[in-house]
Amino acid sequence: MDSITQLPPESSCRRCGKAADERLCAFCRVHPPEYDSAASWTLYDGAARSLLHLYKYRRVLPAGTWFAARLAPLLPASAELLVPVPLARGRQRERGFNQSELLARRLSRLTHLPYDATGLARRRETWTQAGLSREERERNVNGAFRVPEPRRIDGRSILLLDDVLTTGATAQACALALKAAGAAAVHLLTIARADLDFAGRTLAGFA
Ligand SMILES: [Zn+2]
Repeated sequence: MDSITQLPPESSCRRCGKAADERLCAFCRVHPPEYDSAASWTLYDGAARSLLHLYKYRRVLPAGTWFAARLAPLLPASAELLVPVPLARGRQRERGFNQSELLARRLSRLTHLPYDATGLARRRETWTQAGLSREERERNVNGAFRVPEPRRIDGRSILLLDDVLTTGATAQACALALKAAGAAAVHLLTIARADLDFAGRTLAGFA
C-alpha cells in the first residue's frame, strides 16, 4: 500500500482549507464559506481513497478508529461539540452505518469532546452528489439540512465532521443550518478533500 501524506496546514487557507500562499485565499476574501474554518487530513487519492472505500463500502470499521486518531490533532482548540453530517436515510439503510457518525464517536472517545449524532438532520432526501457539477450540487443540498433541537447548538462552537470534502456544497448547507440555529462557530473537519485546487497540485509542491 502506498503511504498517505498528510496535508500541511501551513500551506492552506485558514477559512476553506484550500492550498494558498496566504492566510486567506483569493476566493475567501470575496466569498467566504459559511463555515469558519476547514481542515482535512489528506487528499482523496491513492491509498487514502482505497482505505476510505474499505471503510465506507466494505465496512472495515477499524479504519474509522485509525482515521479518528489522524484527525484528533487537527481539531481546533475552540471546538465544543462534534456533529457528523447525516446520511440520506436510504443510504444509511443500505450501508448499515453512517461513516461520519462513527468517526464522531471515535473522535469523541479520543478527545473527550461530546458528540451529537442527531445535531443535524436531513429535511429531505438528496441525490447522490457523485457526477454532479458544483452548481447542481449546491441546488441538490440547498436547504436539505435542519437542526431538530436548536438549544443543543445555540451559542456553541461546532465541529462538523464528514469523510470527504468535494465542492463543499454539503458542508455549506450544514453550516447554514447550524448558524441559523445559533452556532457560535462551525469548523469543518474531513478525512480527505477532493477539490480541484488540491488535486491539480502534487503533494511535492507542499514540501
Ligand atoms: Zn479560502
